[in-house]
Amino acid sequence: LWVTLEGGDGSGKTTQARLLEQWLGDQGRTVLRTREPGGSEVGILIRDIVLHHRGEVAPRAEALLYAADRAHHVATVVRPALARGEVVIQDRYLDSSVAYQGAGRVLEAEEVRGLSLWATEGALPQLTVLLDLDPAAARLRLDAADKPFDRLEAEKEEFHSRVREAFLALAAAEPERFLVIDATLAPEQIAETIRVRVAELL
Ligand code: C5P
Ligand code: MG
Repeated sequence: LWVTLEGGDGSGKTTQARLLEQWLGDQGRTVLRTREPGGSEVGILIRDIVLHHRGEVAPRAEALLYAADRAHHVATVVRPALARGEVVIQDRYLDSSVAYQGAGRVLEAEEVRGLSLWATEGALPQLTVLLDLDPAAARLRLDAADKPFDRLEAEKEEFHSRVREAFLALAAAEPERFLVIDATLAPEQIAETIRVRVAELL
């Protein structure tokens, strides 16, 4: 089983990935928790480029770097784990690229999606949890936690609103794959909603 978590910065993806990992582990499942960008050794190098030189990398180059990270991650980390029968819980996947490199920036969402699908030979998770959060609420949350809202540069709120709308549009287009959850709910309540769906898929 392959589960991805999507949503803007500060929506609680990492927290939920940890809670799900714990719950599955308690049931004796072998879990691989991973992330993009940076879920492999090569990916960590690519993550450094995209996160620390974001404004400097041309949009198509940026999209290709994310796609390269994803291609390598899926081929060398995700597919092997799935082949071993493990549950893969992944913080961000191709929907993030469609939302950030596509809708957020200047590229066409469909082109970005096509690039990702080429990179991964069409690999898609069984479940994508979208933690939906208003960007203004996310900003307050990250400020309270003393974390930067955007880990590279202060993007405009409008950018994050486009990203949010793109995630919601992706979810509406693939209701079978997506589980959309209001990220303002209590973490434990969100975790329980995710567990119910995961239990159906196991
Ligand atoms: O989720 P994580 O903290 O790893 O994301 C790092 C940053 O990279 C986030 O601020 C996110 O906005 C950005 N990102 C992006 N395009 C992606 C994935 C992440 O711009 N495809
Ligand atoms: Mg995170």
